[in-house]
Amino acid sequence: MQGLMMDYPLTIPAILHRADTIYGHKPIITRLPDKSIHRYTYSAMALRSRKLSAALQKLGILKGDRVATLSWNHYQHLETYFAVPSIGAVLHTLNLRLSPDDLSYIITHAEDKVIIVDQVLLPLYDKFKSKIKIDHLIVIPQTGQPIPEGALDYEKLISSADEKMFVPFNGDEHTAAAMCYTSGTTGNPKGVLYSHRSVVLHSMASSFADGLGLKESDTMLPVVPMFHVNAWGLPFTCTLLGTAQVLPGPYLDAVSLLDLLEKENVTITAGVPTIWLGILNELDTHPGKYKLSSLRMMVVGGAAAPRSMIVGFEERHGLNVLHAWGMTETSPVGSISFLAKELQNQPKETQYNYRAKQGLPACFVEVRGRNENGLIRWDGETMGELEVRGPWVARSYYNSTDMDDRFTEDGWFKTGDIVTIEANGYIEIKDRSKDVIKSGGEWISSVSLEGAIMGHPAVAEAAVFAIPDAKWQERPMACVVLKPGKSATHDEIIRFLEPQYTKIQLPDKIEFVTEIPKTSVGKFKKSALRELYKHMGS
Ligand code: AMP
Repeated sequence: MQGLMMDYPLTIPAILHRADTIYGHKPIITRLPDKSIHRYTYSAMALRSRKLSAALQKLGILKGDRVATLSWNHYQHLETYFAVPSIGAVLHTLNLRLSPDDLSYIITHAEDKVIIVDQVLLPLYDKFKSKIKIDHLIVIPQTGQPIPEGALDYEKLISSADEKMFVPFNGDEHTAAAMCYTSGTTGNPKGVLYSHRSVVLHSMASSFADGLGLKESDTMLPVVPMFHVNAWGLPFTCTLLGTAQVLPGPYLDAVSLLDLLEKENVTITAGVPTIWLGILNELDTHPGKYKLSSLRMMVVGGAAAPRSMIVGFEERHGLNVLHAWGMTETSPVGSISFLAKELQNQPKETQYNYRAKQGLPACFVEVRGRNENGLIRWDGETMGELEVRGPWVARSYYNSTDMDDRFTEDGWFKTGDIVTIEANGYIEIKDRSKDVIKSGGEWISSVSLEGAIMGHPAVAEAAVFAIPDAKWQERPMACVVLKPGKSATHDEIIRFLEPQYTKIQLPDKIEFVTEIPKTSVGKFKKSALRELYKHMGS
């Protein structure tokens, strides 16, 4: 017998419709490239989005066509998030930190028909334009300079469009809505294709109270770029809930962000640890300078949040960090480290230990770990590769069969992350499988060592990676950036680590550097470090 409930499609236009009809008055605030602040409302956003839908249809964009964006976080980018999927086309956000070669590869692979580009990013576009073939270039005017000949002006397209001419797509929730390519640290980037349904379900589940706990009354500042896994889905989630959005434009340095967090009374913000390490350093250097009493939560993910950072924010500045794990292939929210009831009366130190883990799987995300002996026990000790499945987890890559081995025959996605899982379900990411240090039969977690070194009071950042070793196969080495005006020696850092690690787990070499190379999404670029320092091995 079938149930007798309506088959109401879970689509992105339904998200926009709700924001328009119920939260039309709520604000969307952007810091523009000239640093001025632009303010408008959800109803203005919805209207302009419908106009853009009509304009794209007039340009000949059909269901399934890919429309790319090369943009920072701002209100026009938000409009494309809704305008493109609303006509059944696919929003393809391009990572502006990738190399011109990677970008031209991705655009060609995705067969993008249109690219919508920030005027301030035209110098980047110029570096790969000769290598791609698209139907239309649309430029978002930002500088007061004329836009290039042959390109279309985004604002003129909107002002001349008639939103009543826009024909909505047929509403099938399984239709592709958006795509992101993985950052491709090994091999070519791979396309992940989200559906309307996966976006809606991810928006709902990630906002649960035991998820990000996002509410209508919040003001959200996503530091995570809208070109990195749809800013963790936050533009969709905020619009669904009517949450005020503060979009930081191109200014992602600690001072600019703190200024915006304070002035706009932001209540929740989200980004990768490198951003928050910079912010913590600024707060430590100027205690009391920034008034952040509105800020109730900082969501940290994309790489491991060091325990010392979580402790530092809370104990020195009264700020609450929520640690989450995810991937481009998981939309991205996969697990969230909130404190379950039985942990809430544990000592603070135990609570910090749990909050530094990657947490419990999000609702509907199933997890398991596997090593060479089969599925791992949930004992918090046995390590294995994390496999996941759920309604917003990829089941295959776009037009690519060379990575089919990332998907198991029984329908799970192999994350490439090495984890332990505790009996109570808490996951701890020990490493990426390619970053774990294999030393004489033992696996040493580079993530754990990094977190511990970053707990040293003189250390701003630390990355740990493998160097070759004739006897042990691989040994750990660390690159360490010291805080301005602070000093520490190799021996001091080793002494600091000794209480927590066995001798074999301690780094053989520590190099003090001024900067650690980062990937296009702000994570430590360990492949580059391994290459750079391989001569230090034996
Ligand atoms: P991306 O697809 O670029 O978002 O990268 C996903 C990868 O980032 C994951 O497979 C993990 O290796 C890493 N990652 C994401 N969040 C975390 C986290 N909270 N802790 C540790 N690693 C993380």
